[in-house]
Amino acid sequence: MARYDFRTQRLFVDHPLAGGVSLPLDRKQTNYLVNVLRMKDGDPIQVFNGRDGEWRASLRFDGRRTHALSVGEKQREQPPAPDLDYLFAPLKQARLDYMVAKATEMGVGRLRPVRTQHGQVGRINHRRLEANIVEAAEQCGVLAIPALEDITALDKSLSEWPATDPGRRIIFCDEGHLDGDPLTILTGLRRSPLAVLVGPEGGFSVEERDRLRDLPLVTTVPLGPRILRADTAAVAALTLVQATLGDWTPGSGSAS
Ligand code: SAH
Repeated sequence: MARYDFRTQRLFVDHPLAGGVSLPLDRKQTNYLVNVLRMKDGDPIQVFNGRDGEWRASLRFDGRRTHALSVGEKQREQPPAPDLDYLFAPLKQARLDYMVAKATEMGVGRLRPVRTQHGQVGRINHRRLEANIVEAAEQCGVLAIPALEDITALDKSLSEWPATDPGRRIIFCDEGHLDGDPLTILTGLRRSPLAVLVGPEGGFSVEERDRLRDLPLVTTVPLGPRILRADTAAVAALTLVQATLGDWTPGSGSAS
């Protein structure tokens, strides 16, 4: 099977994929391929749907207005979703868009928004975030599109944790814990399913921080001597986790 091809345009399509299939394109997709990318009849593209792997395809002009994709060979098998959760307090729009796109690029498997005491955003726009996730996946060759969960209160999520996800360790990015070395802390952990938790721009409350620090499933991690903005903290924390315990480590065998 061919290796990851990062030169050819990649498009998410919400259709079952198989060799020889012809996929109709909607107006938005047609406009993007034909008018924005200026693709021509027969031009190559790669398609994926988050379930059936990645396929070579080519653009076909059926007439002046109808366009379709002819699917050819499978190029990459569908990998399992990465077993890495990302818990985050939603931010205001542009930073939230950035954060979910970066978490997707960094190989998160589940995006879990949480309501915290100092969070300024209590609701999320699923459609908008899902569009950002798909766009990041298209650009970065991620085939297992991260699931976006409904927002839950952090408190509730923590209370249910031992019952719903007992083996999953929470890597708590605690801005109140500025000494220590995250690499030593993370490399000292046993391999297990993980969740990374980053707070809102207003930080965690004293109560939340105390509760988290007391939970046996939580490992507190500092991210250096400066307080980072939440979207920066997301990238920094996910980098550390992927490089020490995740799919940046040799032999992790994972491909998104
Ligand atoms: N307003 C808060 C900072 C919040 S930063 C204050 O001034 O204290 C947003 C989130 O990013 C934090 O809740 C934490 O999860 C993470 N974060 C930022 N800098 C960090 C650091 N140096 N160490 C650990 N986590 C950090």
